[in-house]
Amino acid sequence: MALQIYNTMTRSKEAFVPQEPGKVKMYVCGPTVYGYMHIGNARPVIVFDTVRNYLEQTGNEVRYLTNFTDVDDKMIRKAEEMNITVADVAEMFIAAYQEDLQGLGVKPATMNPRVTQSMDMIIEFIKELEEKGYAYESGGDVYYRTGKFADYGKLSRQNLEELQFGIRVEVDSRKEKPEDFVLWKAAKPGEVHWHSPWGEGRPGWHIECSAMVREYLGETIDIHGGGQDLQFPHHECECAQTEALTGKPLSNYWMHNGFLNIGDEKMSKSLGNGLLVKDIRQRFKAGAIRYFMLSTHYRNPLNFSEEALMSAEKSAERIALAESNLKHRLELAPEGVQGEASSAVAERLAAITGNFHAKMQDDFNTPDAITAVFDWVNLANQTLANNETASADFAALLKAFAVMNNVLGLVPEQEEEIASEEVERLIAERAEARKNKNWARSDEIRDELGSLGILLEDTPQGMRWRRK
Ligand code: AMP
Ligand code: ZN
Repeated sequence: MALQIYNTMTRSKEAFVPQEPGKVKMYVCGPTVYGYMHIGNARPVIVFDTVRNYLEQTGNEVRYLTNFTDVDDKMIRKAEEMNITVADVAEMFIAAYQEDLQGLGVKPATMNPRVTQSMDMIIEFIKELEEKGYAYESGGDVYYRTGKFADYGKLSRQNLEELQFGIRVEVDSRKEKPEDFVLWKAAKPGEVHWHSPWGEGRPGWHIECSAMVREYLGETIDIHGGGQDLQFPHHECECAQTEALTGKPLSNYWMHNGFLNIGDEKMSKSLGNGLLVKDIRQRFKAGAIRYFMLSTHYRNPLNFSEEALMSAEKSAERIALAESNLKHRLELAPEGVQGEASSAVAERLAAITGNFHAKMQDDFNTPDAITAVFDWVNLANQTLANNETASADFAALLKAFAVMNNVLGLVPEQEEEIASEEVERLIAERAEARKNKNWARSDEIRDELGSLGILLEDTPQGMRWRRK
């Protein structure tokens, strides 16, 4: 079966065919960097990282772009509030965002274009829209002439009359029509600004993505993503801007993640502390957070709660434990394992990974793909119990796990290392204590390791450890 993706544009699942075989151009709208990443923002971040991982795992080269909106009204207000420059606000929150990404086991994008570094391409784009009659200048602002683009509303499936009805008529005499949207805003006195053919100002929000996509990816991309709230107006406006110039689709597939809610409340940045990724990361590992995010289908709503995260943590730990037990048992056989995996294990592994791929190919059905991971956990534990010594089955199990884990990231590499490093450190300390005949400390460490689920075995070959 080929990969099927639910395309918001057609409201149906479609076979995914990139324009160039084996190469995927993907763009996901990024954050406005005026605050820390909240747990709602982490949803698209993890979802699209997983999509990208799956495409790469199945042999595609993915060019993955996600932007930083580093100047807008909210940025300007934040800078005033903090009494620093807009650029300083951006630096501060981009650095924090990147730390959060790393902490969530999310791979860096191929590129993170920023608005303030993309002014030339943005101004050029607006100039071309103006030349074609899709944009008009009015009092130093430039607006998009929505009525001229016949397809306006096609993504969010609204027609212009409905839209006009829905839009609160702003008291803004500069627009020809209320549904027209701003491409360039004249700067207010004292505000950060750039020089343009229409005077000093800065871009509107929607234009940056159209300009960056065209510059770095080309006229038509394969996948465009973001949270469902971006369908309208943001993505609708992106389509209008790009397609008015090219006459071609901006993206062949549109993917939107559902919202993360707290109780019945929609999450917003104003909900504040405790819900920030930087704080949640203090208490939960990336594997647990990713498990929580991926155990619901990306298009469904997801309810956030402390309990849900705690339960995700337990599940992620079960997976991590099975993996580290296999690794550890293999390490105990420094001469390595000989031969092939048994046919029973090989067959069951083929069924598990086959199932994993089938679920992922069905519009990235991660909750069902995780079920395949648990079939793997059961098989791993049975195989560990059935084999006294290291077996080629262990190596085969680890290989199959790596394929699934490279995609879902439920056991990020750094977490395995930290766990093992801590154990090794305590074991070394205990050996030292025993050398010094400090039996009290030696016993204390044995208990401490016991509480971490580690069993120590004094063997003729020296100290060995395994997880319970
Ligand atoms: P923002 O910085 O608010 O523009 O959001 C950045 C990204 O996070 C966008 O793709 C939003 O759609 C997404 N997003 C914001 N809040 C949530 C939420 N509560 N659940 C899921 N996605 C969200
Ligand atoms: Zn965008």
